[in-house]
Amino acid sequence: MARKVAIYTRISRDDEGEGLGVARQREDCERLVDLRGWSLAKIYEDNDVSAYKRNVRRPEFELMLSDLASGLIDGVVSYDLDRLARQPKDLERVIDVFDSRKRLTFATVTNDIDLSAADGRTMARVMVAFANKASHDSSRRIRRKHLELAMSGKSSGGPAPYGWQKDDPNKVDREAASHIRAAQKEILAGVRIGTIRRRWHEERLGHPREGTKRIAHHHLEHMLTNPRLCGYRTYHGEILLNDNGEPVTGEWETINTVKEWEAVCAAVAERKKGGTGAGRPVGRKYLLSGIARCGLCHTKIRGQINQRWQPGSKASKYSYQCSVVNGGCGKVGRVGEPVEDLIIDLVLEEQRKKAAEDGSPVEVRWPGEAEFQTVSDDIKALTAAANAREITVSSLLQVLPDLERRRDELKLERARFLRELKRAESIAEGIKNREDFRDLPIERQQSIILHSLSAVSIHPAGRGRRIFDPDLIEPIWRE
Ligand SMILES: [Zn+2]
Repeated sequence: MARKVAIYTRISRDDEGEGLGVARQREDCERLVDLRGWSLAKIYEDNDVSAYKRNVRRPEFELMLSDLASGLIDGVVSYDLDRLARQPKDLERVIDVFDSRKRLTFATVTNDIDLSAADGRTMARVMVAFANKASHDSSRRIRRKHLELAMSGKSSGGPAPYGWQKDDPNKVDREAASHIRAAQKEILAGVRIGTIRRRWHEERLGHPREGTKRIAHHHLEHMLTNPRLCGYRTYHGEILLNDNGEPVTGEWETINTVKEWEAVCAAVAERKKGGTGAGRPVGRKYLLSGIARCGLCHTKIRGQINQRWQPGSKASKYSYQCSVVNGGCGKVGRVGEPVEDLIIDLVLEEQRKKAAEDGSPVEVRWPGEAEFQTVSDDIKALTAAANAREITVSSLLQVLPDLERRRDELKLERARFLRELKRAESIAEGIKNREDFRDLPIERQQSIILHSLSAVSIHPAGRGRRIFDPDLIEPIWRE
């Protein structure tokens, strides 16, 4: 059987100039996977946009390490070593996993390094150490140069970006700034950059260059997330830090507070993380998505970002909403956090009681089973249709790769779910409170909930009811 490998990609701000967008990284990696005759099990994708934060955590990297360690995948393909591990400590963690599982595979597009052999490891360590030192050196040099500029009161030069006055880049252009802020608000409300881009194009906003059709997507994204908006100085997309590690600020007028700017960056990063795999929006996972059901029409309810939420406001960030799009009545919704808190408390309490009286184990089903079945059936039906010459082979091949990838992703998800379930069985008693629970990966949280509940019914609250009423949330206990 072919080895099940995963692709790991990481985007950072400096990739833009090198044309190393995630799509290209992915394509090159996929080609390599094909070439070696491996089977692609999963694509892990981190948006490690280094300008946003120092020491960014890489959730997908962590997931990949644990999937490698537990045997769900047999290896990793990455564009280059730098994508996989920028810090020596990350490389050491990868090497540890390769130590514990002897037959793992590792390959890069640009240089072939064998992490299962001593030579390869030495090579990898040297490369990461050098890359790390080089970036330290250059950032120190740049920091000094820019601090000198800042101290002498000079700006770093260049034309004024959109949002500031053309003849004086230190002064805000009121009108442009208001367009930027309006667009940022839309981003926070879940509007896509593409939608804003169309509107800006129609209204000729954002200094469109003569003769160009539209502002580029990444260009608009940059205008809305530029660290300059909150006063941070940058160089090649990196926020400059002073010797205390704090961001250096410029003398120009700002358009955002740091908090506002961070919220927009986080929203953009989150949206990007959603677009993994074959371009399917996955989005953030909510604890009770697929578990909660509408009390009126009984369709499954999913979590969604609250459109009215803004940074600093007291409104709930997300809610569970019966949706017409998903075939529901659209009439029932509830703020997310109190529902989750209530259910977590109830389930933990119940499991504590059960553990005390040593209850018998219950069978838990994986929530993705139905989709997995559908995708597998589609693949079968399409292949059969092609064999019977009802459709052409080329139209089969148009859709087959996406379906197969989705099926393999689901397979992996199921394996992960079952693994977490096993772990949850032994671990649930170790969870003392809601905070412990929230620290667990979402899959494990869900498997613990599903251990006790088969569903959660959310009943309509009636008009104008503002106060959260726990009696309207009905847990359906497993029998
Ligand atoms: Zn409904």
